[in-house]
Amino acid sequence: MKKIVLLGSTGSIGANTLQLAADFPDRFQVVGLTAGSNNDKLLLQIRRFRPQVVALADEKAAERLRRQCRSRRDLKDLKIEILSGMEGLVRTATLDEADIVVSAIVGSAGLVPTFEAIRAKKPIALANKEPLVMAGAIIQEEARRRGVAILPVDSEHSAIFQSLSGQRRGDVHRLILTASGGPLLDLPLAKRRTIKPAQALKHPTWRMGTKITIDSATLMNKGLEVIEARWLFDIPPDRIDVVIHRQSIVHSMVEYRDGSVIAQMGIPDMRGPLAYALNYPERLPLGLPALDLTKVKALTFELPDHKKFPCLGYAYEALKTGGTMPAVLNAANEIAVAAYLSGRIGFLEIARLIRKTMDGHVPQAVKNLEDVLEADRWGRERAMKAIS
Ligand code: NAD
Ligand code: MG
Repeated sequence: MKKIVLLGSTGSIGANTLQLAADFPDRFQVVGLTAGSNNDKLLLQIRRFRPQVVALADEKAAERLRRQCRSRRDLKDLKIEILSGMEGLVRTATLDEADIVVSAIVGSAGLVPTFEAIRAKKPIALANKEPLVMAGAIIQEEARRRGVAILPVDSEHSAIFQSLSGQRRGDVHRLILTASGGPLLDLPLAKRRTIKPAQALKHPTWRMGTKITIDSATLMNKGLEVIEARWLFDIPPDRIDVVIHRQSIVHSMVEYRDGSVIAQMGIPDMRGPLAYALNYPERLPLGLPALDLTKVKALTFELPDHKKFPCLGYAYEALKTGGTMPAVLNAANEIAVAAYLSGRIGFLEIARLIRKTMDGHVPQAVKNLEDVLEADRWGRERAMKAIS
């Protein structure tokens, strides 16, 4: 029985993780849940999985949850500790009982809990890519020092991880990340300015949280994934390529020095990579629809259009610059996406805001997590000022 702490339980990855826990009750037990704020979903999760600890980022929401748990007949006799704030998230992420931590908070908010889980020697099933973007060198160094496995959940990185299995690292020539292209792939440049969030949120192949879906529409998600791959697989940026693959069947590939390419395929369903990370190296009978290539018929691959998708290039640039720049890129993107979703800026301004914030930043070397958090604060403030 594997005891799971799930950071970000009320999100899209959170829901997929709990679906697996429900489908394989003899394999997985949920001992801790965290979420940003309280909602009905969380109450249902608590009732269903009966975790020992729940933490909410928001203190008031935690207090409300405590009251709900006391007053509801179906929850009254539950022995549950309800924590709050960053301290509560970290205590849950480092729970003694946990055998693995699923890191599925969205954005930079997951950095400290994920880092502390690594420091507590917990294996990590990593969906939350932003921490690696911000602090990849520091996180990997900490994981190495403590002998902690970071197992990728992001479908591209899971595909690369699987395609590297049994191969010699020295034989790897390059990584090829596939990108669906998102909902706006074919929309001409001239029409992108007026795109409303409702349209940009219509992803053709994946159902995900709002932030990553907008990141998919700008291709920033692929940029963040290039940085994620650099740190997960210790490979320089000039050996990581991106191709548009509309069908989301080939999840990514590794090219070897003899010219062989190993790819991993599957239907687009996050339970595949999640289950692989949670139960590595064993595969579970997930009962997903079979991949029928005769129905898919064609698999297509195209080069990304950098004019339409400037964010992809910004991410490469930030990675090559290094130091605090990737954290600033990430911070500006988080602010820009939130501003776009709330209608304060237009779609094209997302990229402009990131460009402007990066241009105003003098990158510094990062020695520790505090340096990264400082760069994150700087990037947010700068981007926020540019909006107002
Ligand atoms: P989501 O928005 O659906 O869920 C985010 C979760 O984080 C929620 O539980 C929310 O309550 C919690 N949260 C938000 N802000 C918080 C804060 N300040 N403090 C604590 N908790 C907070 O997001 P998602 O789509 O599940 O994505 C989660 C992460 O996984 C992201 O980093 C994303 O890039 C990555 N990822 C997601 C998918 C996918 O299919 N959804 C695929 C690959 C990678
Ligand atoms: Mg991905």
